[in-house]
Amino acid sequence: MKIIAHYIDGKLVEPANGRYIDNINPSTGELYGKIPEGSPEDVDLAVAAATRAFPSWSKTPAAERSRVLVRIADLIAEHSQMLAEAEAMDNGKPVSLAGRMDIPRAEDNMRFFGTAILHWSSEAHIMEDRAINYTNRKPIGVVGCISPWNLPLYLFTWKIAPALAAGNCVVAKPSELTPMTAFLFSKLCIEAGLPAGVLNIVHGLGTTTGEAIVNHTGIKAVSFTGGTATGSRIAAVAAPRFKKLSLELGGKNPFIVFDDCDLDKALKTVVRAAFTNQGQICLCGSRILIQSGIYDRFVSALIEKVSAMKVGDPMLQDTQTGALVSEAHMNKVLGYIDLARQEGGTVRCGGKRVIVEGPCSGGFFIEPTIIDGLGPDCRTNQEEIFGPVVTLQSFETETEALRLANATQYGLAASLWTTDVNRAHRFSAALESGIVWVNTWLLRDLRTPFGGVKHSGVGREGGWEALRFFTEPQNVCIEIG
Ligand code: NAD
Repeated sequence: MKIIAHYIDGKLVEPANGRYIDNINPSTGELYGKIPEGSPEDVDLAVAAATRAFPSWSKTPAAERSRVLVRIADLIAEHSQMLAEAEAMDNGKPVSLAGRMDIPRAEDNMRFFGTAILHWSSEAHIMEDRAINYTNRKPIGVVGCISPWNLPLYLFTWKIAPALAAGNCVVAKPSELTPMTAFLFSKLCIEAGLPAGVLNIVHGLGTTTGEAIVNHTGIKAVSFTGGTATGSRIAAVAAPRFKKLSLELGGKNPFIVFDDCDLDKALKTVVRAAFTNQGQICLCGSRILIQSGIYDRFVSALIEKVSAMKVGDPMLQDTQTGALVSEAHMNKVLGYIDLARQEGGTVRCGGKRVIVEGPCSGGFFIEPTIIDGLGPDCRTNQEEIFGPVVTLQSFETETEALRLANATQYGLAASLWTTDVNRAHRFSAALESGIVWVNTWLLRDLRTPFGGVKHSGVGREGGWEALRFFTEPQNVCIEIG
C-alpha cells in the first residue's frame, strides 16, 4: 500500500484531520494507495509557509532560482523510469507513453522556465526628454496551481515552473485521481534544495482542498487546468476576491482533412491525435471532418488502423491503449457511446469495454471507437467526451468545413490538413481556436502562447505569457528634471 503525504514547509506531512482517500490502480481496478484528504486547515498551513518563504525567495537572484529549478529538472531526468512507471500505474496510460511524453516534458518544463528567467527583461517607455517609464514586473506573492489527471506531472510542472521562476511561492494541488508523481516530485524538490515553503503540495478533493486554495485570501492568483464546469466554478469563487486567473479548460477539437492533403501522413497523425492517452488529452482531435471526395477511402483506412491498436496492460511496452483513469470516467465515456447510438450514430469500430485477460481483468479499458452518421448539433458532437471516442463528419466545401469546425462552444485546438498554403492561412485565421496545427498535431514549442478561446479558457500559458501571468507589472514614471 503506497501512502503519500502533503509537502508543506519543506517537509512531508500527514493531513491535519488524519483522513485519507483511496487511490485505485485503473488498470487493475484494485486499491493500491492512500492519499491525504486535505482540508482547509492543511491549506492554511501551506499558505502560511509560502507567505513566510516569499520575502526571501522573491529576492533570491534569478541565477540562484534558476540553479534550483534546473537541478530539479536534472533529478526528473535521473529518475525518469521510476516516474514513468508511477505515472502509468496511477493514471492507466501506457508506460511507454509516460516515458516518451509525460516525464521528458515535465523535465523540459522545469528546465525551460528555469533558464527562461535568466533572459527575462521588462520594458521601458521613453517620453523624449520629459520622462522615462519602466515596467517593474514583480512576483505576485503566493499563488495557487491546480491541475488535472490526464497529464499529471506534465501539467503540474507546466504551472509550477513559471510561478517559481518568476519568484512566487506556490500552493499546488494535483488531481486526487493521480497524485503519485506530484508526491515523488516533492521528494525531488527536497533533494534539490528548494527552500522550505517555496513550494507546497496539498493533496485532496477539488471541492474541499481545491476550493480552499481558490478561496484563500492569502493566495493572490490561481492557475487552473481542468474541466470547463470546474473553471466556471473557480471563476465564480475567485471573482469577488479580485484574483488573477488563468483557466485552461476543455475542448472538442476538429481535425479537418481536405482532399489535397498528404493522405498517408494525415492518416497516421489522426490515429495519434484521436487516441493518444486513451483520447484523454485536451488537445485530442475528437471531431474528424473529412472532405467528401476522400471520405470513404480515408474512413476505411482509418478503421483498419484503429481496429489493430493493442489495448491492454499499460506496463507492457507494446501497449498502445491503456486504461481510462477511473471506473466513473469509463462509465461516463461508455454512456456517451450509448448516447451516440440513441442520437442515430453508427459505431464503425470499437464501442465496448475491454476485459483484458490476466492481472488487468478488473481494469477500466475501452476499445478505440469511431462513430459516424451524426450531425454537428447533437450532444455527441457538442460535449467533451474525453475518451477514446471520435466522430466522423463529411463536408463538401471550405465554407462548410469552417462552419462545422467552429460549431461548438469550445475553441482550444484544431488540426488542419491541406497542401494549399493560401487555404492554410485563410482557414487558420478564421478558426475560432487558440491553437492551430497545420499538417501536424501536438508539435509543441514551449515559447508559444498556449490556451483556448470561448469555453476553452481565459488567458495563455507558455513562454513569456506564463511569466507575465505570474508577475504584476508596475509602471514607474520618472520625470526628467
Ligand atoms: P476537473 O475540472 O474535474 O479537475 C481538475 C482539478 O481541479 C483537479 O485537481 C480537481 O481536484 C480540481 N477541482 C475540482 N473542483 C474544484 C473546485 N471547485 N475548486 C478548485 N479545484 C477543483 O478536471 P479533470 O477531470 O481532472 O480533467 C479533465 C479536464 O481537464 C478536461 O475537461 C480537459 O479538457 C481539461 N484539460 C484542459 C487542458 C488545457 O490545457 N486546456 C489540459 C488538460 C486537461
